[in-house]
This record gives sequence, C-alpha cells and structure tokens, in this order.
Amino acid sequence: MRSADPLRARDPRASAHAIVLIMGVSTVVLALLTTFGPNSVSSATRAASWAGVAVLVTTIALCRLVPAERVDRAGGFVLIGLAGVLLICVLNVATDDPSAGAQAFLAFPVLWAASHLRWAAVALVTAAAVVGNGITQVLLQPLEPAMHDQLVIGTVLVVAAVILGRAASVQDRLVAALQQQADVDPLTGLVTRRVLDDALTGALERDPTGDGTALVLLDIDSFKQINDAHGHPVGDDALVHLSDLVRRQVRAGDAVVGRLGGDELALLLPGCAAETAARRARELVEAVRAAPLPRADGGALPLSISVGVAHAPLHAASVRELYAAADAALYQAKRAGRDRVEVAVSPVPRPADGLPRQRSAP
Ligand code: GH3
Ligand code: MG
Repeated sequence: MRSADPLRARDPRASAHAIVLIMGVSTVVLALLTTFGPNSVSSATRAASWAGVAVLVTTIALCRLVPAERVDRAGGFVLIGLAGVLLICVLNVATDDPSAGAQAFLAFPVLWAASHLRWAAVALVTAAAVVGNGITQVLLQPLEPAMHDQLVIGTVLVVAAVILGRAASVQDRLVAALQQQADVDPLTGLVTRRVLDDALTGALERDPTGDGTALVLLDIDSFKQINDAHGHPVGDDALVHLSDLVRRQVRAGDAVVGRLGGDELALLLPGCAAETAARRARELVEAVRAAPLPRADGGALPLSISVGVAHAPLHAASVRELYAAADAALYQAKRAGRDRVEVAVSPVPRPADGLPRQRSAP
C-alpha cells in the first residue's frame, strides 16, 4: 500500500474548518489591535496590520470557495501554515513588538499543523516558526534577551508540536483499525456489506463499458445441517473454504467478493453482461461441487451452493432493486432443488403482482 504523502493533511475538510476558525479569530484580534491597541502607533504599523487583515480575509475566502481536497492536493495547507508563520513574524517586526504575547501567536499555525497535517508538514511549519521567531527576536531585541525568548518559545512550540503530532498519529492508527473492522469480515477476510454497497453504488453510477453490472448472491445449501452434524467450527471452515474458492474464481480487480452475513456471499461484477455473469455463476456452482471441504480426519465434506444472478439495467435500476432481484433468483434456486443457478426475471416482480413471496433483501 502506498503511504500517505507526508506533506498532506490528515483530513482535508477538518483541516480547512480548523484553519478558517483560527484565521477568523486572528482577523478579529488583529483588527482590534490595529484599531485600539499597539498596532495603531504609526501609519506604517497600521498599514502593515490592515494588510495582514486583508491577507487573512482573502485566505479565509479561498478556503471557503475552493474544495478542501483540491487545496490539499496542491499542497495548499502546508503553504497556509508557512504563510501564517511568515505573517506573524512580519507583523511582529513591523509593529516592533518582541513581547511574549506577540510571539505566542506562533502557537496558532504550529498547533493547527500538528493536529491536522502529516509529519513532514508539521516539521516544516514548526521549523519555520522557530527560525522565524529567532530572526524576529534578533531584529527586535539585544542578543541576550532575544536568545532567552527564542529558547523558551522555541521549546514550547517544538514540544507542543511533538505531543500533538504523536496524539494525532495514534488517533490515525485507531481510525484505520476501526475502518478495517468495519470493512473486512474477520472470519473469511471478505469485505463487508458496507464496502459492497459502496462499490455497487459506484458501479451503477459509472458503468464505463456499458455492459451493465451483475450481482451474484451465493448461499450454502443446508448449512444448518453442517453446523448441527459437525459443529460450528466445521461450519466456519466451510465458510472460509467457500470464500477462498470464490476468491480464486474471480480475477483480481474485476470483481468484489463480500460476505453479506451468515452463509451468504455476494459477488459484484461491474461491466459484466447478464449471460457472462450467469456463466460465471454456473462455474462457481461446479467449482464448489468439485471441491469438498477437507476434514482433519482425512475425509471430505461435500458442499453445494445455490446462486441467484441479477443484472442492472436488465433486471433493476437501483442498488435496492438489484439486491431484491438477485435475492428472488436465489430463492428460486433454493425452491428448484438447490445446487444450481437461477437468473432474475425481468422486470423485478413486486408483492402487488400477487407473485409468491420473495426472500427479503439482505
Ligand atoms: P438453505 O439451503 O435454505 O440455505 O438452508 P440453510 O440451512 O443453509 O439455511 P440458512 O442459509 O438460513 O442457514 C444459515 C445458518 O448459518 C444459520 C446460522 O446458524 C449459520 N451461521 C451464520 N453465521 C455463521 C458463522 O459465522 N459460522 C457458522 N458456523 N455458522 C453460521
Ligand atoms: Mg444456506
């Protein structure tokens, strides 16, 4: 897996929200300081401060207008962090203000970067803040107090960045672990219904080949009997065995295989005509029939599956209808004697048609 760009934001939207808030607060404070406070001492400092307000307002407007993902792709967030550091240093020099209060503003870009950007961007913004503050202090104060301020403020900025950056990394790892749990079935390693639904929605929206999208539902025949006769661990082995078989039957990248729950799996075939999907479903049924579950005692447990195939746009127009059509076909395969494939009928039968009850959509 390609690791994330270390100069990018962890979550572009959250980064944009936070920086807009910080810049909004900074704009108000800077405007107040310029109107009533020390930044109004001369026309030059007033001009520099109002220019700072203008830069902040423009950046806020840009962040609101340009999608956060685009800003992030262009490296905009790290640039905003660096520009924030530069603006604070320039204003401190322009207003001839070496006070701890003026230096404290550097905490804004550093803390924001540490909690929202990846490690290289955090290092860049923090280094810029430390170096920028050092230069500012040397320009504004005699060397000794400048070095003292630089030591204290620099240490505070670096320690805060490290602590926040580490906390954000831990949070990233926890979110990734949760995502993995939500996306992958722990027994079979197949994706969950959530991932399958997203892939199905995307396939129905895009359909670049024009062949449509097929959904194949597979259910182990008489699985309860396997559990009852051989125990749940053997039932689990059968599920893993079937999952491996199905995974082997599909080419990587041309299908999504998921576990819907219980003994029901689903195979999503984007860009696949209905006849092709039906042929592949028949191959699956034969493959399962031909590969009984190997047992610890050297024997083998025969397995079979029933399969329902539905196709969009042939049998359905939406994700819900596609599931319903494939489920109805699967129910038909069970009723017709199991160990077989049935293809959905077109159009999707509805309860109001007075047709026999369909299995509810999974
Ligand atoms: P049919 O041929 O009509 O499908 O009959 P069936 O016995 O397979 O019926 P059904 O598909 O409804 O059975 C699902 C069973 O799967 C019920 C449940 O006890 C069992 N099951 C669900 N999840 C698991 C699991 O993770 N491991 C095991 N071993 N069994 C499970
Ligand atoms: Mg079953």
